[in-house]
Order: sequence, then C-alpha cells, then structure tokens
Amino acid sequence: MRLLILEDDHQLGEALATGLRQLGHAVDVFRDGVAADAALAGAPFDAMVLDLGLPGADGMVWLQRWRARGITLPVLILTARDGTEQRIAGLDAGADDYLIKPLGVDELAARLRAMLRRATGRAQAVWTHGALQYDPATKQVQWQGQAVDLTGRELALLEALLMHPQRVLSKAQLQEKLYDWSGAEPESNALEVHVHHLRRKIAPGIVRTVRGVGYALGAAEETS
Ligand code: CA
Repeated sequence: MRLLILEDDHQLGEALATGLRQLGHAVDVFRDGVAADAALAGAPFDAMVLDLGLPGADGMVWLQRWRARGITLPVLILTARDGTEQRIAGLDAGADDYLIKPLGVDELAARLRAMLRRATGRAQAVWTHGALQYDPATKQVQWQGQAVDLTGRELALLEALLMHPQRVLSKAQLQEKLYDWSGAEPESNALEVHVHHLRRKIAPGIVRTVRGVGYALGAAEETS
C-alpha cells in the first residue's frame, strides 16, 4: 500500500519508512502538515501515520481539517501523548487508531493492515478472489491451492487491484500505488511488465485491460 507518514522527527520518520518499504509498501515522509497536505492531493495514499506534535499547526488540527474536507483516508495517530483524554480526543477527531511511541515497525504494519481491512470492508485476514488467496501479513499468494512466487512490486500491484476489486484503476493511479517519491522514476513500461508477470504467474485473465482507461481485477476462476 501507499503510505503517508507525517512525522517531524527525521530519524524516526526515516526508520519507519525504511521498515515499511522493506515490507513492500511505498512510503513518503513529510515533516510538516503543509507539505503533507499538498501531497494528499498528489497521490492516492491508502493510509496515513500521523504524529501530533508538529511544527506549525498540531497534528490534531490537520486531522480535523482533513475530516472536515471530507478526506476519508484511514489515519493512525502515532504520538508520545499517552493520556486517556488525548486518546479519546484523537479518535473523536477522526483517527482510526491511536498508538503510543515507541512502536516497532512490525506492530505498526499490523495495525495498518487491520485499518485497511476495515476500510475496504473485509473481516477476513486473508483476501480471497475466486481461486486466488492473498495474505497481506505474510505476503503469500495462492492460486488454486498452489503457492505463487511474486516479487515485491508484483505483490503491491496485486494488492492494489484486490483492494478495489470493482474499480478500474488508471495506469497513473497504479503507478502511484507502487512507487513512492523517494526513488528513481520507474521505467515507462514498468507497470505493463508487472501486469504481464501477474498474468503469466497466476492466470492470463487475472488482470483485465480496460482499453483507454487502465486495468482492473479480472476473472478469478480461469485455469492457467
Ligand atoms: Ca513530533
């Protein structure tokens, strides 16, 4: 998933980003609310990790602004403020989870998975699409009961399609899900290559091309 971290502690922000990238996520870190606010308009983020003590406006103020603007992005507050009243205020302001620093990347990733599961209306930890099974925690994919070996980007692409099974996603949108702004620009045909690999490794019909628009999750029962 594509994650936005708003954290003014540079070292902590980078440590979290590195850990989450190793787990296959695309992650962008911002150190103040103005920059994060601008980024929200520029990429389809799936969730946000929000610090509260920030230069300029407080994280709570930003959260209230975003919710007032109708931004429904799942938000996990990660803060040193551990009072019960502060937790309640954070959740009431529209946060989906509220965690206290310090927190390991593994738990943070698990919390983000749970948040996303709720946001996409899933109750099961393992996502099923016909003969396809995907476990976001272990990154294991099975097709018709057989394990499928996918690279990190292929997994990210499959996850993005599974996250919105009814939706057609443009190439630009999918590209934004796979690549954060920290690395080099991907090759122009990188997405097509990943789609090709998913079709070859899983089933030809697993990704549907919607001409002139982009890609969507395809049939799940077709034999490979
Ligand atoms: Ca801070």
